[in-house]
Amino acid sequence: MTLFATTTGTLESTVPVGASMADGSPLDWSGPLSAGAVVLDDRIAPCASWSGIVASGDVLTIVDVGGNQSADCLIFDALDHGRRYSVPDTIAWQGNAYVREGTVLRSGEGEPLMTVTANEIDRQDTIGGACSKESNTLRYGYHTHFQHGCRENFLAEGAKRGLGARDLVSNLNWFMNVPVEQDGTLGIVDGISAPGRRVAVRAERDVLVVISNCPQMNNPCNDFNPTPLRMIVTSGGAAL
Ligand SMILES: [Zn+2]
Repeated sequence: MTLFATTTGTLESTVPVGASMADGSPLDWSGPLSAGAVVLDDRIAPCASWSGIVASGDVLTIVDVGGNQSADCLIFDALDHGRRYSVPDTIAWQGNAYVREGTVLRSGEGEPLMTVTANEIDRQDTIGGACSKESNTLRYGYHTHFQHGCRENFLAEGAKRGLGARDLVSNLNWFMNVPVEQDGTLGIVDGISAPGRRVAVRAERDVLVVISNCPQMNNPCNDFNPTPLRMIVTSGGAAL
């Protein structure tokens, strides 16, 4: 385990020192985007994974600590992993390709899993998908084969929760900028977030949230400098 020094302490990571978080990276750990008691407050090292249960009614704040850091995210019903986040159902129900405040994140059965209650960047992505060492190798060359991607993070973290490869569906990418151009073209371009920007999502049932703090260093989705994330769960408070 490697320890990363930060302005407010240290973070553990299996990723070697020097692979991410360049010296002098600005970090803003910010705070919860919802009132109520803090029941969980975790920090995810650059390139690492995380999972947690968010109880029905509680609010998860995700902090983009270093700015423009993609937080790849899967959501499951905590009691029935077969009920899980669905990109096409979420987009079709709201009739819009972007995730913003008010977006209901739905399962493949159309059931609400979580609702975005606050959002400090213009729009969040749920189309761009997750990186993997296979897609990296195809896109960027065989020299990237040793790099792990979000798919590998999802598999490793999911294994702790009884999830396998068949449970990995299309995901959300908090803080990633994937514009849909007028002709329908997708881009993965420079970010629109900044250190300390947040998104808050309220659980509509007990949910399992799995995060890959994206290790991608071959395109601009993480500003070529993976940085930490902060995960805060609050209970019993209204949105700020
Ligand atoms: Zn990724």
